[in-house]
Amino acid sequence: MDNSKIKNRTSLAVSRRVQKLREEISRLRFLYHVKDDPEVTDDVWDSLSRELKSLLEKYPEFIDPNSPENRVGGEPLEKFVKVKHDIRMLSLNDAFSEEEIIEWENRCLKIFGSPTSKYSMGMNYFCEVKLDGLSASLHYKDGVFVRGATRGDGFIGEDVTENLKMIESIPLRLNGNNKGDIEVRGEVVMTKKAWQKLNKKQETLGKATFANTRNAAAGSLRQLDPKIVQERGLDFFAWDIVQFPTNILNHSDKHKILKEIGFQITPYERKVKNLKEVFSFIKEIGKVRATLPYGTDGMVISIDDLEVQEILGYVGKAPRYMVAYKYEAERATTIVTDITVNVGRTGVLTPVAHFNPTLVAGSTVSKATLHNIDQINRLDIRIGDTVVIQKAGDVIPEVVEVLIKMRTGKEKKFKMPEFCPVCNSKIERHSIGNRESPMSRDENKQSSSSQGNLTTGFGESPMSDGLAPLLPRPRTSRRGAFPESRGVVSVAYYCTNKHCPARSSRGLQHFVNIFEIYEIGPKILDKLKDEGLISDPADLFTLEKADLSGLERFGEKSADNIISSIQLHKKISLWRFVYALGIIHVGEQTARDLANYFGSLEKIKKTEIVEINNIENIGPVVSESIFKFFRDKTNLNLINKLLENGVSIYHEKAKNLKLSGKSFVLTGTLSTMSRNDAKKKIMENGGNVASSVSSNTSYVVAGENPGSKYTDAKKLGVKILTESEFLKIV
Ligand SMILES: [Zn+2]
Repeated sequence: MDNSKIKNRTSLAVSRRVQKLREEISRLRFLYHVKDDPEVTDDVWDSLSRELKSLLEKYPEFIDPNSPENRVGGEPLEKFVKVKHDIRMLSLNDAFSEEEIIEWENRCLKIFGSPTSKYSMGMNYFCEVKLDGLSASLHYKDGVFVRGATRGDGFIGEDVTENLKMIESIPLRLNGNNKGDIEVRGEVVMTKKAWQKLNKKQETLGKATFANTRNAAAGSLRQLDPKIVQERGLDFFAWDIVQFPTNILNHSDKHKILKEIGFQITPYERKVKNLKEVFSFIKEIGKVRATLPYGTDGMVISIDDLEVQEILGYVGKAPRYMVAYKYEAERATTIVTDITVNVGRTGVLTPVAHFNPTLVAGSTVSKATLHNIDQINRLDIRIGDTVVIQKAGDVIPEVVEVLIKMRTGKEKKFKMPEFCPVCNSKIERHSIGNRESPMSRDENKQSSSSQGNLTTGFGESPMSDGLAPLLPRPRTSRRGAFPESRGVVSVAYYCTNKHCPARSSRGLQHFVNIFEIYEIGPKILDKLKDEGLISDPADLFTLEKADLSGLERFGEKSADNIISSIQLHKKISLWRFVYALGIIHVGEQTARDLANYFGSLEKIKKTEIVEINNIENIGPVVSESIFKFFRDKTNLNLINKLLENGVSIYHEKAKNLKLSGKSFVLTGTLSTMSRNDAKKKIMENGGNVASSVSSNTSYVVAGENPGSKYTDAKKLGVKILTESEFLKIV
């Protein structure tokens, strides 16, 4: 295919994706702004918008000035009277990282900051927590509240005066003697407590619950009956004055005035001198965000000086002088590039979805377990699908839902393999009664009566070796994730080979130890297997921080430690690699002998029994075992997978073979090193270590309180070394 054809094909694919994104963003926006009935959280919408934005940056030929991404908000519903805002209500541009805030500052500096300008020396910023609610504008005439409106599309909102009057924190008469027109703007919010209470009540009444505090606030303010608004316990926090009789110099002064005339202002605000202080305030609030009584989604940063604000002005719908930092999204969208299968300790097969790497809640996620085939069916997830992934708090990344509307028709359905991906044995399918319901909360309730007597067979193992199968664990359900879930019997797939390498964690532990990834102990290994994160040693090298930090009792720090240890030990010497493979009869010494003799993995793989047998110290039984190992397809697949996943092997001919051919026996306690370290030192220098003294022993190293080996050495006339003498020769 020539270049222009490839280009056309890419161009077509991009154009299709852009179109799909536009349609879906527009539909979600309508549901969100106009219907107050969002299908997804804003993170999802943000994520799709960001993808569209970055596609359009790369392919500007698809920019369309009339397309929905250039429009904000939606039309107000017909049921309230429409009001035109005197001054347009703007929206804010978002920043998702410190870098983006720095870029924002640079853009500002470029506009007004000539080197001689009074602002080029730096400026003050005003930071305030961004409460997650509904923006409203309040009009006061001669100090009396006369009209209140929602933001709407920024130009036209809805008159909700009577409802706003029900909010206790909105003063009906301002403090002080205020003449003329005053317009105050702020956020109508609901506390997390009030939201929970409201949801409980909605549930008892059999009514729909609200997904978050913002929806609850928005839904409540839009009630036509002000009495209901009163019951809901809404709150109001002011953040701006856009009309005021006297001149105001700084944004921070506006907040002072707001307080004076009787408003609550955002509970966390700070005037700072530079971006460094902005970042530290962002971090400070980031730590306590979850514990605040109100939902927050970011931090609004503005240039404090109103004169500077004036100079900077607006670009499109947003002011240049203000930016909204958004805290890490807990949900994002991505594309499923593949679905593979891991084999667990009981032989159970766990499907894993692979994605285009995506940043969620601070870590990059490129895969998530799908747990079992039921989950795949429930989500109807296919290869090529655009999905919503979630990593909330300490949760392992998971697929929450598929954005069905983003499908192109080219998505591929997933099928469980017929043969084990690890050992190639046949796969069997078993039905298991399901104790935990995989259904969503609401559905649970509806079907709870019919469910109790269907729970069967939990303790029955489909395997004959008495190992209870780990029941494929249904995940905590999320709103809307499992719309079609009605089944109770779950299906699991098992590898039928009792000796499938994936079923033994002993081999895996050996591997981890030889690779010196000491941070991973048996408990962690079991967890990783149970979660379907790994089925063989090669999978270790694709682990991400996001996989680990979600595991129970797993701190960020230990996740970091494990990942960095794995990365650090990816480069390994040939003998350690061979030893780690766990070939029957091949211990440390034989592995070293093989490495030294052949010098490369390729040569070891291709060798014949006779040649192995030629190596000193390696007998026929061991030779055969080695030969067979490297002729086995499963083993070769594992080796290839290890190399593909980034393991690199080096071989250095031992530089210092001063102890070559020397045999050591250790006895007693050494004061400067452990016995294992001493052994390591001897072997690094070409020597070997035996467990008992014989006439072949070259040296006995005697530490404190030596045992019978010491007397044996004396008897046989073997040279005895003190610890310091030993240290000199190694
Ligand atoms: Zn198997």
